[in-house]
Amino acid sequence: MTCPLLYRFRVIDKIPEPPTTATARGTLVHAVLERLFDAPAPGRTPQAARDLIAPEWDKLSADAADLAELVPDDAALAQFLQDATAAVDGYFTLEDPRRLEPAERESYVETTLDSGLRLRGYIDRLDLSAAGDIRIVDYKTGKVPREAYEASALFQMKFYALVIWRTRGVIPRVLQLMYLTDGEVLRYSPDEADLRATQRKLEALWAAIEKSRAAGHWRPRPSRLCDWCRHKALCPEFGGTLPPLPGQQAPALATDPAPLATDPAILATDPAIPATDPAILATDPAIPGTAPTDPATKESEVALTA
Ligand code: SF4
Repeated sequence: MTCPLLYRFRVIDKIPEPPTTATARGTLVHAVLERLFDAPAPGRTPQAARDLIAPEWDKLSADAADLAELVPDDAALAQFLQDATAAVDGYFTLEDPRRLEPAERESYVETTLDSGLRLRGYIDRLDLSAAGDIRIVDYKTGKVPREAYEASALFQMKFYALVIWRTRGVIPRVLQLMYLTDGEVLRYSPDEADLRATQRKLEALWAAIEKSRAAGHWRPRPSRLCDWCRHKALCPEFGGTLPPLPGQQAPALATDPAPLATDPAILATDPAIPATDPAILATDPAIPGTAPTDPATKESEVALTA
């Protein structure tokens, strides 16, 4: 994580982050692509996917008033659905869903490291070849990251690969990030050294989080990412006043997994934040043991708990 204070706002204070049109579009597009594979392969056409957009939105917005409020009138709804359609159409420029059969979709994965650190998250899609090779696929509706942030995006995928390796004994062959709107794919083949390094970084990150928690001090770390921070108004760097920490006398996380065990927001990237925003899941060059060249980001959810 690049900003300890942002971590605090999200995970310790649990300050709600209402959806934005960008997060809502990401949710909708993910739902459409998941539903698309319900159909037999020949029926997975661009038109079939487009036909899913409005009904899926109706379902999502019926269950969440805050989603419905994002598109208050017909014009806003039309623009929103048009943007979602562009992302769905972009998907078809990247692959033909009639030619593949995902092994798993929206797959929940979880493992506990020897240190006791628990890793968990949802993977958009897992593909399995006849030879047993695993491909982890993640859909992104934000922009392709600039080169400097590619490692950021990949770190999240390595996180998933680490969990898969530990739970299934197989190192995924390919990590595939699909930037739907931009029509680009980022692929990487991890090896064991990659995943061991990822584990070390995660454990170092967690150690730093526990240190901050014990000290009760979550320093702000301003960057250009502050432009996307939903808690800027509370941030002292921008004239805000910090709320008191909840439960000052709460036990340390290591002995109290409850506060985070049910909160997948930890380390989760936010679809609201453009994909070029590595605010979350990014390793922090300031954290001992983490590499300054390897921050990370994620549009779906991943979590660390102890
Ligand atoms: S505004 Fe910037 S420095 Fe402040 S909490 Fe958000 S990301 Fe951190």
